[in-house]
Amino acid sequence: MATHHQILIIGGGNAGLSAAAQLLHKNRKLDIAIIEPSEKHYYQPAWTLVGAGEFDIRDTERAEKDFIPKGAQWIKDAVATFQPGKNEVTCSSGVVYSYDVMLVAPGIQLDWNKIEGFKETLGHNNVSSNYSFEMAPYTWELIRNFKGGTAVFTNPATPIKCGGAPHKIMYLACDYWRKQGILDKCDVHYISGAGAIFSVKEYAETLKNVVSRNKIQTHFNSNTVEIDGARQTVYYEVKDEQGNPMRKELKFDMCHAVPPQSAPDFIKNSPLADGNNPLGYVEINKSTMQHSRFPNIFACGDCTNAPCSKTGAAIRKQVPVVVKNMLSLLAKKEPVAQYDGYSACPIPTQYGKLMLAEFDYSNTPKMTFPFDQAVPRWTMWVLKKYVLPWLYWNRILTGKA
Ligand SMILES: Cc1cc2nc3c(=O)[nH]c(=O)nc-3n(C[C@H](O)[C@H](O)[C@H](O)COP(=O)(O)OP(=O)(O)OC[C@H]3O[C@@H](n4cnc5c(N)ncnc54)[C@H](O)[C@@H]3O)c2cc1C
Repeated sequence: MATHHQILIIGGGNAGLSAAAQLLHKNRKLDIAIIEPSEKHYYQPAWTLVGAGEFDIRDTERAEKDFIPKGAQWIKDAVATFQPGKNEVTCSSGVVYSYDVMLVAPGIQLDWNKIEGFKETLGHNNVSSNYSFEMAPYTWELIRNFKGGTAVFTNPATPIKCGGAPHKIMYLACDYWRKQGILDKCDVHYISGAGAIFSVKEYAETLKNVVSRNKIQTHFNSNTVEIDGARQTVYYEVKDEQGNPMRKELKFDMCHAVPPQSAPDFIKNSPLADGNNPLGYVEINKSTMQHSRFPNIFACGDCTNAPCSKTGAAIRKQVPVVVKNMLSLLAKKEPVAQYDGYSACPIPTQYGKLMLAEFDYSNTPKMTFPFDQAVPRWTMWVLKKYVLPWLYWNRILTGKA
């Protein structure tokens, strides 16, 4: 097996596969290898619907081999270290691969251990998380069997993939309990590390109404630090007026929690990491997606320090930019294509209705459709439940959209 490739892609997830496919559409003769350890590929955006009983978890998992584009080589290994000065990476197996140009796209790391007790109680004691393939069905079990009491939904203080997912499931749960006639018996709390329900004011207004009609009690700037499963208690920290941390607690009957997130450790501990970012993301130019210090390295997807919302929707706009710029570099031209920070967050506000929030780096709405997307609609629900999954497997991963 060759150990040198013209283009080496790290990670065969949403970003890595889309980029490989688009590169090969541009030029079939490119020598591309993808380093990806997993036999399985997941459509993670549907895990919210799985947690709400609206999607079969088995339909979110496919064989990785079926999506490696024809013409690309799959190296089933995991990158352990980077030697950018030598244009080399070393894998866990010890094999060293070299490249002319590299695309880094290994996604984000779920730091379950940053919330004490979370990992130990996950899947037990009525604690679940849609951030895990194994757990999303358990979320639905909890929502379905809830008979009233205190339901707690948490959102960490770090950036995460799909910033909307921690509260999307809360709105669906409330709607389900309303339909069961038990919402009045439910005391719903949202404990969030963020300072507001959503960062784009046009969309935040809609969500404030949803929060208020469901009588959800919000706790902003509140960082979940511990989940004691046996005592069914969440502990979180808020800052007092002097800025000192104060610990608070809330007993729950069910809890949907989301782990803090950061760059994967092998990125964090590498020369590619942004030294000014404690979460260790790959340091890139947020417009060209080119590494700030190593010109023949690019990155896209959840692993970068670009200040955009980390979603598959963002990747759909990043990939054409990164592809164009990598090809420019191979042709010894300047990388000039630019990404504007576009991202989208499809937020179901109840069963059958969804608000498609689209925006850019400046948090300005960037609506695709010729109607006010801040108004939740059935058509957007259909887009999320049926159209986007089809597009993902058939057009996005194959580099056609
Ligand atoms: C619950 C939930 C809901 C979401 N909802 C939405 C939504 O509604 N809309 C939306 O647009 N997005 C949503 N997302 C976010 C979306 O799934 C991610 O933004 C997207 O998958 C990121 O793509 P990626 O390629 O960066 O990472 P991933 O798709 O996670 O792929 C990373 C790949 O890198 C591989 N890898 C890891 N370590 C190594 C290594 N050492 N060497 C080589 N390869 C490695 C992994 O095995 C994996 O295959 C959601 C995510 C979750 C969890």
